Amino acid sequence: MTAQILDGRAVSATLLKEVKDDVAEFVHEHGRVPVLATVLVGDDPASHTYVRMKANRSAQVGMRSRRIELDAGITTETLVRQIRDLSRDPEVDGILLQHPVPAHIDERAAFEAIDPAKDVDGVTRTSFATTAFGEGGFNSATPGGIMALLDAYDIPLKGKHAVVVGRSAILGRPVGMLLLTQDATVTYCHSHTVGLAERVAEADVVVAAAGRPGLIRGEWIKPGAVVVDAGYADNSGDVEYEAAAARASYITPVPGGVGPMTIAILLTQTVRAAWERETGWRRSRVPLKGWT
Ligand code: NAP
Repeated sequence: MTAQILDGRAVSATLLKEVKDDVAEFVHEHGRVPVLATVLVGDDPASHTYVRMKANRSAQVGMRSRRIELDAGITTETLVRQIRDLSRDPEVDGILLQHPVPAHIDERAAFEAIDPAKDVDGVTRTSFATTAFGEGGFNSATPGGIMALLDAYDIPLKGKHAVVVGRSAILGRPVGMLLLTQDATVTYCHSHTVGLAERVAEADVVVAAAGRPGLIRGEWIKPGAVVVDAGYADNSGDVEYEAAAARASYITPVPGGVGPMTIAILLTQTVRAAWERETGWRRSRVPLKGWT
């Protein structure tokens, strides 16, 4: 068996066309352009690249981005104050704090300074809770992107065994919650899991979100399983690609799988936040499962 590619570039291009139409309609109706504020702390080159890509994509769909770049030595208090200012700023519809921030900063405190109504990257406790309760709200962007990709290929999840490797607050945990919302049976694995190979071998759907290149061996994959590789470290995913693709029914490439979907969901949620701020009601043109 050779797996079919879950093509995040193609699916995200379709989503971004939808977002572009939605932005045009919003501008026509409300006479202003939606604004995404991006906050970047420090000099990490990869983070700079991600923020630049997000700004470029915002421009492509007709949105404005406001880039805030802060010195690596900034205190948590100053960062929180900056983000609170953006939360109160009537011109700003969505706020993205690029993760990770330097180690001395309390990242959770900074995330919680984001007004949940502007939490288009889905990182606040409020967004996590609405995800966990299956109540819509803003999804954490990468988990939302993974679900949208599975949805685009009509991958059945009801009753399937999904194994998520990783349990971070912005990726592993929320993607498990979203899979649960879709009636999958979910197992979480992490650095203390005993028998990772056996757990992965039981999976109908594997979501790799550890950031450990090659952690998931191809020979562990159950024939016909769906493999989603969200990991990205040293230019590699978490899954041994060739060997896994020989057994899986579907697989995401790295790059070109989960990454482009993350940006598409961020922008989808930004225009949605703009509509919600103007109209007070939830609106999404993009029909994604798990969104109400
Ligand atoms: P993180 O906070 O470092 O979390 C990594 C998780 O993997 C932790 O839960 C950790 O377990 C688990 N883990 C580490 N080593 C393991 C092992 N040997 N066996 C099993 N589990 C192990 O990272 P993150 O922010 O969630 O990101 C994970 C990966 O996704 C990174 O490569 C990141 O670059 C990538 N990512 C991609 C996108 C995208 O848009 N494509 C977005 C976000 C993140 P413990 O909890 O026990 O420590």
